[in-house]
Amino acid sequence: MQTVGHFINGNMIVEDNQTQPIYDPSTGEVTKHVSLGGAKTIDEAVAAAKAAFPAWRKTPPMKRARVMFKFKELLEQNADEICRLVGEEHGKISHDAAGELQRGIENVEYACGAPELLKGEHSRNVGTDIDSWSEFHPLGVVAGITPFNFPVMVPLWMFPMAIVCGNTFVLKPSERDPSATLFIAKLLQQAGLPDGVLNVVNGGKPAVDAILHHPDIKAVSFVGSTPIAEYIYTTAAAQGKRCQALGGAKNHAIVMPDADLDNVVTSLLGAAFGSSGERCMALSVAVVVGDETADKMIAALQPAIHELKFGVHSNKNNDFGPVITEAHKSKILGYIKSAADQGASLVIDGSNAAPEGYENGFFVGPTLIDNVTKQMSSYQEEIFGPVLQVMRVQTMEEAIELINDHEYGNGTCIYTRDGESARYFVDNIQVGMVGVNIPLPVPVASQSFGGWKRSLFGDLAMYGPDGVRFFTRRKTITQRWPSAILREEKQFAMPT
Ligand code: NAD
Repeated sequence: MQTVGHFINGNMIVEDNQTQPIYDPSTGEVTKHVSLGGAKTIDEAVAAAKAAFPAWRKTPPMKRARVMFKFKELLEQNADEICRLVGEEHGKISHDAAGELQRGIENVEYACGAPELLKGEHSRNVGTDIDSWSEFHPLGVVAGITPFNFPVMVPLWMFPMAIVCGNTFVLKPSERDPSATLFIAKLLQQAGLPDGVLNVVNGGKPAVDAILHHPDIKAVSFVGSTPIAEYIYTTAAAQGKRCQALGGAKNHAIVMPDADLDNVVTSLLGAAFGSSGERCMALSVAVVVGDETADKMIAALQPAIHELKFGVHSNKNNDFGPVITEAHKSKILGYIKSAADQGASLVIDGSNAAPEGYENGFFVGPTLIDNVTKQMSSYQEEIFGPVLQVMRVQTMEEAIELINDHEYGNGTCIYTRDGESARYFVDNIQVGMVGVNIPLPVPVASQSFGGWKRSLFGDLAMYGPDGVRFFTRRKTITQRWPSAILREEKQFAMPT
């Protein structure tokens, strides 16, 4: 059976002293193993990245961008293979994997603008014959740690931008579905990236801790669950590293009485159940204003949910696939049971779902729960599964207060036909990414992605303009040439 290794200094390295199984979540079978690197592996990857840095730092941004142009082409040419690898280890249906890849490619396209993005800022004659300008310098060796749910897109949020900014990179992908990530790293080598500029080390906590404590790593970009994000942020910051750590979510949609209910139902299906709800921007709670609206919405949702198809990733007719592991499936079932035990109404229960022929897969069917309240653990915590919960409120203000009180603040949406309500919502909601009749308001690559509250630790969001800032540091130069120096008196006051 194949053991998935690391990619260091342009070479695949398999260490089989410590490994972990990789499952096909559709069948529940072990299909591969993955090497689990530790401090020694991270040392090797950092040494390779450190050695590659001086030459890469000096490579003109246009030449760095050319590598990314070629990389984009290779990602497109190899799309089927990438989606297959994602499907086999994550379980994502190929159309969903293709969407993930496309959003990742958009970040590569944005990174191709490196010469423009790194232009700096210039002020002429800030004093007599004095010019001043800011330059954006790379940090050195930087690292990324990524989650299982987007094994292609989230790494592409990070390393293309870091690399075009002149940094060298050590990536630690999720040990649960590492093959697609490794595959795209090798494509970047094929696109002409010098060895050592991008290195991939697989592993779990020991590899992450080695990154956090390595003196040669200058910055850490993390995406994953909130408890780990907080740990990464506090540990990296204590080590003097720059850090951005994106965490979990509970994304609410407010459904106003004037909303277009057909649109609400259609778009909620994809936003709640797409990718089995394993998206940090999944809409997992519908907060409905007024009982009449809630009753109508539930009546329309029920038949639509019964029609959803879920099953193996290779069947394009399926709407969504399995969840990532047996343990995660049990956790989701626990939340469904706890909601019912705590008094919610289980309208559709997907707990005992098993598509024919895939009885051992990690499947949870689409689940709809009504009359959910604030105190329930299924509401307070992130479920990360195909479960849509409905809460009933009487006013929009009540809905806004509910959302603002939640510990997470990643994404949210309002469904309404009323501009005044939409504007009030946008203005008063304590959430980082906001949609108006848009259920998954994931910012495009030229914006930046980041939540508020405990969905993001750090000052800068991911990719876009914030990505450039995160992966560079500013140097400001103030210059006067000797020929222009006026003979001055000694001056001890602050120069003006
Ligand atoms: P996770 O936190 O379990 O793992 C993320 C990364 O951290 C992995 O590389 C993993 O190996 C590492 N890790 C896990 N446990 C660790 C520990 N104890 N110490 C150090 N490192 C550790 O997350 P996941 O289950 O892979 O991904 C799902 C989570 O990610 C969800 O909470 C989801 O909301 C979140 N997510 C957030 C965003 C966002 O942009 N905010 C995007 C995608 C996913």
